[in-house]
Amino acid sequence: MTTPRVEIDLGKITQNARCLVRRLGARGISVTGVTKAVSGHPDVAKAMLDGGIADLVDARINNIIRMREAGIHCPISMIRAPMWHDVENVIRCCHASYNTEVDTILKLGSAARQQGTEHDVILLVEMGDMRDGIMPEDLNEVASLVVATPGVTLKGIAANFACMGNVAPTAGDMAMLSRLADQVEGECGPYVALVSAGGSANLAWALGNGATGRINNLRLGEAILLGIDPVSGQSIDGLHTDAFALFAEVIEARLKPNSMSITSSAPNYGKLALVSTEDQLNRAVLAVGRQDTDASGLMLPSGIEYVGASSDHTVVDMGESDLSVGSEMKMGMNYSALMRAMSAPDVEKVVHRMLPVIGTVKDTRPQPLLKLI
Ligand SMILES: *Cc1c(COP(=O)(O)O)cnc(C)c1O
Repeated sequence: MTTPRVEIDLGKITQNARCLVRRLGARGISVTGVTKAVSGHPDVAKAMLDGGIADLVDARINNIIRMREAGIHCPISMIRAPMWHDVENVIRCCHASYNTEVDTILKLGSAARQQGTEHDVILLVEMGDMRDGIMPEDLNEVASLVVATPGVTLKGIAANFACMGNVAPTAGDMAMLSRLADQVEGECGPYVALVSAGGSANLAWALGNGATGRINNLRLGEAILLGIDPVSGQSIDGLHTDAFALFAEVIEARLKPNSMSITSSAPNYGKLALVSTEDQLNRAVLAVGRQDTDASGLMLPSGIEYVGASSDHTVVDMGESDLSVGSEMKMGMNYSALMRAMSAPDVEKVVHRMLPVIGTVKDTRPQPLLKLI
């Protein structure tokens, strides 16, 4: 194994998925697995499916093609509105796509007819995150157009929260999304089968006691992969937060001051020296940088502090720890660090297939391997 590398415990991802599927299932809410943070890594996608998730979404068609080529046949949808040059591939590889623009929906309809198939459309409604979405007052008109367009079928409506802003949705937002589903049905005819109320930022509401109304789906990435609620930054009760770890090699380790100034012992300029202006720090330089991950989103071992990073180096203050040159450091990653590490070509990805433990996640004893006798 080389460094930098990400090691992935697939069993923990399966357990997180299973736990969320069970808890949300009890509330009448299905879970769609979001694979964009792992670039559609097929083993991670399969680990989600092993946990009882029935369908996946990704924001990039290339990630979806990667999963299809790896033999994943479950329904997969595009959650980013398709670009026009991707429309043929979206029809070929995806059961459905999330959309906000009429012209794109018309293109999807004609590509679906050309390929002799039918494509499901989910309309994304703007509910305050101010990224992408149809304004609520325009929803009926767009929904009617989907219904009238051959080649596409209106499958549902969806909302986004805390993608751009960091504001969790309220019970009022959820009630409004439910009302919009009723309203689209009343005005346009067909049953709105899917009412998808956002991502991990909506878990606090979904796992609470409030009425769920028409809401019957969440699209979860961060909660399954990292066990974290993106709004609070806190870990979610009962979920693993350490399914992924990043390993990097120490390429320099020495005491250095925090900053220095150059002095010369004039008048003979032969001797230049760096003179410490502050206390010495026990620093290590890691061979991983901003090309590989979001260095500021790394969770370092206790007693070790992040100092800074450049494109190819990350500097840490080792404190009392003693990391020698050539040794490896293991780190946790936040969502941003994970996403970049999983898409970086120079970061090796190593999967571990622990046997998933059925039952509570507290029970994480190593599973005995079957012995042939
Ligand atoms: C990324 C994304 C999600 C998943 O978000 P998480 O916070 O990782 O659960 C859901 N919906 C859309 C449209 C997204 O882009």
